[in-house]
Amino acid sequence: MKGAWNTAAVRTSDVFELLRDGRPRTRAQLADLSGLARSTIASRIDTLMRLGLVAPYGGGVSTGGRPPSLLALNPMAWVVAGVDIGASHATAALSDLSGTILVERRADLDVALGPDHVLGWVEHVVADLLADQRREVRELAAIGMGLPGPVEHSSGRAINPPIMPGWDGYDVPGHVQRAFDVPVLVDNDVNIMALGEQHAHLPDVDDLVFIKVSTGIGAGLISGGQLQRGAQGTAGDLGHVAVARAADVLCRCGNQGCLEAVAAGSAVARALREAGVEAAGSADVVTLVRSGDPRAVQAVRQAGRDIGEVLATLVNMINPSAIVIGGSLADAGESLLAGIREVVYQRSLPLATQHLAVTTSRAGERAGVIGAAALAIGHVLSPEHIDRAGERLAAAGA
Ligand SMILES: [Zn+2]
Repeated sequence: MKGAWNTAAVRTSDVFELLRDGRPRTRAQLADLSGLARSTIASRIDTLMRLGLVAPYGGGVSTGGRPPSLLALNPMAWVVAGVDIGASHATAALSDLSGTILVERRADLDVALGPDHVLGWVEHVVADLLADQRREVRELAAIGMGLPGPVEHSSGRAINPPIMPGWDGYDVPGHVQRAFDVPVLVDNDVNIMALGEQHAHLPDVDDLVFIKVSTGIGAGLISGGQLQRGAQGTAGDLGHVAVARAADVLCRCGNQGCLEAVAAGSAVARALREAGVEAAGSADVVTLVRSGDPRAVQAVRQAGRDIGEVLATLVNMINPSAIVIGGSLADAGESLLAGIREVVYQRSLPLATQHLAVTTSRAGERAGVIGAAALAIGHVLSPEHIDRAGERLAAAGA
């Protein structure tokens, strides 16, 4: 790296990246670390300090000579909002730039009431959260949002979402931007849950599969540190992969043989009802498992094996180091994990499973909102966004 820099080509974001890990450093350390000239470091740091993104760190204890001048990322420079819209409830939070949640609200909200109603709530609650933290609207840098259906990430539009009447093709960012003129990033709920779990509990894991098992089944895939959405944003649609035991079972998507038709929480509950056990949905199944009901334990373990059948293939294809199970059926805990592990360890390559952890989510129902905030932070701290902010500052002639 040293000597390879053309000073004029050094972007503000290049210097920001050196402080992105949050560790404080001096200008001299930044110069040593990067091989950049001190004058170059000084001018880019000046821009970052005027943006508020970098600030002097701590008081610094003087040892008699010049005070040490440590610099660090200032996580309070801007705030972002994270919003997790579920089928029947929603959570919104304000976060600083390190992903620390500052304030959070949760409400019962039926997504089927349509975009006007739901996004009206979003506008109202984000304004409320800003007021709570005594933050101005101009301090809000971006909004990240998760929706319970397929989302075309590039446009932020839901595409044929099965449980969201009125949302098909709806311009979600456009609506929210009428109230807040900031970037609005929209993704599906499982993708943001994967980001949230990684951010909160697995920051060093670059290859992670997050499976949500509730009314349906979906997966968020993080590979090489990057969320994988695929060409149209539908990557990770695990629920409609065919499994042997579902061969004759009709799925709500119209096909036969889908995983979620036999292994989702609602499918397990239905199987139990057919066996004469009262269970309306995932919550009842979990209660039965916890009370030690052998039929429920057996049914959940079998659902785990079915999920494991698809996961074994996935493990062979993308070699994750962690599989995290979330969603309402994850509360069944070991019964579900045991079924998944049984098949994954039996059917995947030994090298792929040697260091593979299969666990339930630790972030739990907060995974989504933490991940929505992380999605927004990833955008505002991206090199493109930082350099644009620096250029705007320069253009303002300050
Ligand atoms: Zn299906």
